[in-house]
Amino acid sequence: MVIILQIVLFIVLCSTAGYFAYKGYTRVYKNIMLGKSEDLSGNSSERLKNMLLVAFGQKKMFKNITPAVLHLFLYVGFVITQIELIEIFIDGLTGNHRIIFHAVESIPALRFIYVFIISFIEVLSVFVFIATVSFLSRRWILRVPRLNKPELKGFPIIDATVILLLEIILLTCIFSMNTADMALHKGEYGFLVSGFLMPVFAGCGDTCLHVIERIGWWGHMIMVLAFLVYLPYSKHLHILLAFPNTYFGRLQPKGYISNMPEITKEIKLMMDPSATPPPADANAAPVKFGAKDVFDLSWKNLLDAYTCTECGRCTAACPANQTGKLLSPRKIMMDTRDRLEEVGKNIASNNGIWKEDGKSLIENGYISVEELRACTTCNACVEECPVLISPLEIIVQLRRNLVMEESNAPAEWNAMFTAMENNGAPWQFSQQDRLNWENG
Ligand code: SF4
Ligand code: SF4
Repeated sequence: MVIILQIVLFIVLCSTAGYFAYKGYTRVYKNIMLGKSEDLSGNSSERLKNMLLVAFGQKKMFKNITPAVLHLFLYVGFVITQIELIEIFIDGLTGNHRIIFHAVESIPALRFIYVFIISFIEVLSVFVFIATVSFLSRRWILRVPRLNKPELKGFPIIDATVILLLEIILLTCIFSMNTADMALHKGEYGFLVSGFLMPVFAGCGDTCLHVIERIGWWGHMIMVLAFLVYLPYSKHLHILLAFPNTYFGRLQPKGYISNMPEITKEIKLMMDPSATPPPADANAAPVKFGAKDVFDLSWKNLLDAYTCTECGRCTAACPANQTGKLLSPRKIMMDTRDRLEEVGKNIASNNGIWKEDGKSLIENGYISVEELRACTTCNACVEECPVLISPLEIIVQLRRNLVMEESNAPAEWNAMFTAMENNGAPWQFSQQDRLNWENG
């Protein structure tokens, strides 16, 4: 009876979590697909190499060795500890206990491999525990500057802390489950770390050990399911999205800034007085310059926004931010994601149809004109990002819209634009006078 109850409860828990996780991930996918289409196919071998090196190999993290090593422990540990979940899952569905161990216990080589894997997971879990505590103290005790910027106030800092605390609870469940199980079976399994921890439960009777083992078992399962459901609402979604984002990362050199075809056409006509402008098409849709809202950005820009880990490496390297300007490239990504979430909710609550809300990504509590104007387009943020995100692409597109659609530019810029239009150079003297500097 107890076993049947356990199986039913297990199936109910897994399917409920699966349902909510499915809803969360499809919401993110639909939101990303609100962006403009952009063809990033082709060059698949180079893209695959980028993904393996940057997302899987964490290549860009190793510029700063301490957080890189801690992050590697957390990442590898998190992935590998889930191997134990396979057995937990089979046990949960069949009402067994350590089904894989009992299947291999009489075959010495396989038994050794089983014990080795679980012991390896336990050792990794110790490193993950150290990394998690270090990350918490970097935020809350050492107060590393890039992790304590204004844009992290409120939900972002709670989000980062909640995940780290969930990780600690998960590890505690793993160790209490294995240690109590080892104590119950008089060390029969031979696991490394839980064997070492067994004296902690020395005074416990069998019933008490069984209860602790069950709490650890269910706790492990529930924490993993909770993590799965929570992930689409958290910056930790980068654990999954780092892979497609690095695969679809730009392959052009970093300094490359895409041209606007309409402007290129105009410039070509200006440069070639003999060229004849094509006849105007009265039915053509009006040209829109740059981006004003998330719909005007490409799906890749929106994928960037959901992939942002909020690590702040971009902001720490940004010369505008370093010199006290309002601009923070991390905030650009966070604002884009927040506005995208708002737009997604609007569409979901209006039966799949966008209802104009009178807002956009510029101002309205999102990205301010002051922030946009502060960017020097130096690309330092792009260079620093460990998951190949480009905050600069979004900045440039929003700024193009401000200047070209809203005529919203400071007087100094307008003087420069006029000079470029009239003289073909940013200076306010005619082209004929260009070589006057030679005279004396
Ligand atoms: S490109 Fe702009 S946002 Fe990025 S680091 Fe340079 S100034 Fe900062
Ligand atoms: S854009 Fe990149 S570097 Fe900047 S906070 Fe996000 S993940 Fe970190």
